[in-house]
Amino acid sequence: MRPVIKSPWPQENGSPKSYKPHTKAKNDLEVNLGTYCSYCEIFSSDLEVEHVISKDQDPSLAHNWDNFLLACGRCNGSGNKSNKTVDLTTMHFPHRNNTFLSFLYREGGLVTVNPELNNISRANAENMLNLVGLDKYPGNSKYPNPNLNDSLWKHRRIAWELAMKYLPEYEGEGGNLSAEHIVDLAIQKGFFSVWHTVFANHQPVKELLISSFTGTDKNCFDPANHYQPVPRNPDNPDDPV
Ligand SMILES: [Zn+2]
Repeated sequence: MRPVIKSPWPQENGSPKSYKPHTKAKNDLEVNLGTYCSYCEIFSSDLEVEHVISKDQDPSLAHNWDNFLLACGRCNGSGNKSNKTVDLTTMHFPHRNNTFLSFLYREGGLVTVNPELNNISRANAENMLNLVGLDKYPGNSKYPNPNLNDSLWKHRRIAWELAMKYLPEYEGEGGNLSAEHIVDLAIQKGFFSVWHTVFANHQPVKELLISSFTGTDKNCFDPANHYQPVPRNPDNPDDPV
């Protein structure tokens, strides 16, 4: 899950912009974060302004810029996040944590919690995974009635296959494809974490992915160490992620 930086509350005529209704924030959010679901990372022209803390949980945050992300209808829909209660201290969020560190992306577009995290960080990553159903795919016994057509998983799998298809063309002698080609494609497809994982051995691609996906928190990746993810909250010993 791509870690992002929320920009400060946009201003209008010298005061914080009004987001009543909250849907008015969509354009500003897309300028800040790109046209990607903040959770599943899909590129979409049909994103929703997503309340991190739902209107049911705290109506006072219903029009608050700092409480907004972008989400696809699937992640934000019933069965996934919807209006579930959220505790920011026990759940990793892409605007507060280095969520690229929280999860591992694997062949087939599968997502799992990073087993190398400490117990608390693993639990907090798991809570996010469950909130938006990032591990819903056919055959996962965790879900008693697995939806065999889970669209999120299917699109992520396709992105994985595409990245794997172009990897040898990037690596091959004579290099048919450049980092620019790869990232141009990734930007139109979404799934930052899939591309970043498949091109793990290629710093130029990773660097360009980080700088080209609008709103990515660059400080979450260490340029001196192959753009490996680094903890975003190092002063929190319980959960440095
Ligand atoms: Zn989504």
